[in-house]
Amino acid sequence: MRKKIVAGNWKMNTTVPEGIELAKAVVERSASVPSDVKLIIAVPFTHLYPVAEVVKGSAVSLSAENCADREKGAYTGEVSAAMLASVNCEYTILGHSERRQYYGETDEKLVEKVKLALACGLKVILCVGENLAEREAGRHFEVCTAQIQNVLYQFTAEDMKNIVVAYEPVWAIGTGKTASSAQAEEIHACIRKVLADKFGAQVAEETSILYGGSCKPSNAKELFSQPDIDGGLIGGAALKADDFIAIAQSY
Ligand code: PEP
Repeated sequence: MRKKIVAGNWKMNTTVPEGIELAKAVVERSASVPSDVKLIIAVPFTHLYPVAEVVKGSAVSLSAENCADREKGAYTGEVSAAMLASVNCEYTILGHSERRQYYGETDEKLVEKVKLALACGLKVILCVGENLAEREAGRHFEVCTAQIQNVLYQFTAEDMKNIVVAYEPVWAIGTGKTASSAQAEEIHACIRKVLADKFGAQVAEETSILYGGSCKPSNAKELFSQPDIDGGLIGGAALKADDFIAIAQSY
């Protein structure tokens, strides 16, 4: 059985004290979430160390939002996978569309990042998704397929045990426009098929594929009821503990 996951992506929001308070509120309310739903919070690098203390011993797992594509050395301003692992960070998001769009993150760089993250014992939430122009040109299946093939086809079935995929249509991120459950489901099913083609049906069945893009308490239930949607990657709504927990309770 694949895991149901609700992961919050805080992006570049909250100061450290505010982040600690938000993490505490999520931990406090986490008991009200069904025990088979995994809660993850992905926080800015500065927050990882203190938030690790807050989530310690709770049902909430800690994630980073990115990591470097180099192991260590003279890369000013970067944060390595080993550094993340050293503060008890369990996951890292990689390939978020904001990284791809604003920081030149390519599939080639992502292969290096995923390799380093896995080598350091981190689990990866790999984001894929088409932009508006690609959706309007009817290229969404092709774009998502290529992103999966370019990155994940460089890994093994064993590696896939530590990889979660997040489908995030760029046109739905932070815009208030959500993909309909049917639009999301058809891409999720396509991603699962692309995974099955390389790794076999069992690995594809066991890989969690999350939906992200203006997911909120009012639409989560409908999205999560789709057979190939295994939870959500939540941006804006993850900044309010009540909304984040309400989304997780939608299961
Ligand atoms: C995200 O950035 O991962 C995301 C899904 O954002 P939002 O929920 O705000 O659309």
